[in-house]
Amino acid sequence: MTFAHKAMLLIASLALPCAAPLHARDADAPATGAPRLVIALSIDQFSADLFAQYRAQFTGGFARLASGAVFPSGYQSHAATETCPGHSTLLTGMRPAHTGIIANTWFDQSIPRANKAVYCAEDETAAAPAPGDYVSSVRHLQVPTLGERVKAAWPTSRNVAVSGKDRAALMMGGHKIDEVYWWKGKGFVTLAGATLGQPALDQNVAVAKVLAAGDGGYALPAACAVHDRAVTAGSVTVGTGRFVLAPGDGTGFRASPRVDRAVLDLATRLVDADRLGRAATPDVLAISLSATDYIGHGYGTQGSEMCIQLHQLDAALGDFFAALDARGIDYGVVLTADHGGFDMPERLQQQALPAAARAQAALLPKALGDRVAAKLGLDPAGLLLGEGPSGDVWVRRDLTPGQKAAVIAAAREDLLANPQVAAVFTAQELAATPMPTGSPETWTLIQRARASFYAPVSGDFVTLLRRGVMAMPVAAPGYVATHGSAWDYDRRVPILFWRKGMTGFEQPSAVETVDIAPTLAAWIGLAVPAGTFDGRCLDLDASPASTCGAQR
Ligand SMILES: [Zn+2]
Repeated sequence: MTFAHKAMLLIASLALPCAAPLHARDADAPATGAPRLVIALSIDQFSADLFAQYRAQFTGGFARLASGAVFPSGYQSHAATETCPGHSTLLTGMRPAHTGIIANTWFDQSIPRANKAVYCAEDETAAAPAPGDYVSSVRHLQVPTLGERVKAAWPTSRNVAVSGKDRAALMMGGHKIDEVYWWKGKGFVTLAGATLGQPALDQNVAVAKVLAAGDGGYALPAACAVHDRAVTAGSVTVGTGRFVLAPGDGTGFRASPRVDRAVLDLATRLVDADRLGRAATPDVLAISLSATDYIGHGYGTQGSEMCIQLHQLDAALGDFFAALDARGIDYGVVLTADHGGFDMPERLQQQALPAAARAQAALLPKALGDRVAAKLGLDPAGLLLGEGPSGDVWVRRDLTPGQKAAVIAAAREDLLANPQVAAVFTAQELAATPMPTGSPETWTLIQRARASFYAPVSGDFVTLLRRGVMAMPVAAPGYVATHGSAWDYDRRVPILFWRKGMTGFEQPSAVETVDIAPTLAAWIGLAVPAGTFDGRCLDLDASPASTCGAQR
């Protein structure tokens, strides 16, 4: 029995809070009885609302995890609820204000590229392999991940990540990843200069067979019949889809349950090839499943498509866990999401939310910039740079400080005159706002925006739309709904922890996704200096004992 184990028993027997001298623990030893493999699952766009809606229908992997420690109100507490920022919080334990990943895309006027746009998971200084392509990279992530910390403590531990999206795999894996794969085009790829390992080669062969054959789609589960109703948004009609796969259609494969199963199959191959979970020190396997997000964007959240997806994902997760069980691996799981989601306004309007709307095109940065330029007598070309009707906006950098201030003031006045706009905050206002504390559902809008603000990258001002206004003026095929708002349908996600034999419990109070990394670190006995994380350790032991040790 190690000293750490004795100390834990002491705490358990006395039900003491956190005064025991756990700092004296041998920093080189994992916690006694710690899981040998940490599996961090992110279900892209799996909102707390979807979890609540489908929870009673789950019988597979989701049901297993729901028997563990359930936090139904986990918060991606920041305002810019996009994929890259959300994934950046999961295994770093830090908010975007510290990870530096403020959005999927931002604008950097110092780079030679014509449109000045920088993707969160690219190396914009590297030559693209082909026109329109880019070099995937994690260079913009400012902090280490759990997998990196584990490897620093225990050099033989493995840090592996796999996903349907490069940014998801890279933000969860971090800078020092032993193996990382993501879906691109018609198969799995890896970092430039790295070798595509045998597990990915084998998985790509399996995928190619499915792609070549195509298939007639999925049967509709009986529980999904209620969702099977057509809804039209602009030129697009959705709601009754079955994911018919045309031969060779990689995009259709990606926006279907098939890609999640392929990612989980690849994860299983990696467990075998890398012998994950079999050594004395813990390994970290990060898995991000992207189909829910592609389906939410393409079909909304309340049609047959999302219902089929969640039933298929429940089954695929069940099969994945069964494969791990069959190998006798002692693994601990966390499942959460990078952000939530919202249904398409056209269906929301039919279903008791008449206030749901699409953002007006007049709110787009180009249109706004044209109005401001006309008012102030400035050249309108590139006056305002931004991705859409909400989020960060950058003012053209050749202006004098006085002109820039006038542009920001005029833009704010224009935006706040629009009833679809909730708030506009300047970089100065956000910089002067303390990092929020306390329960995230009570944060004000400026506090939410503060958690997304990273001065070296953030815009000159940020626009937040009113609740129910979707930052997508026009629906298009494959893109009828989106997330990214500062509202709880996009911020609130489930957080589920599970390990074989654990006593489950439910904690309905709000917690944050930045709590995941400190929780996992304590679970495996990884010593981390105080103040490392924005989040806190969540005690996964339902009894007076604690899994948080000195970090509680
Ligand atoms: Zn998305």
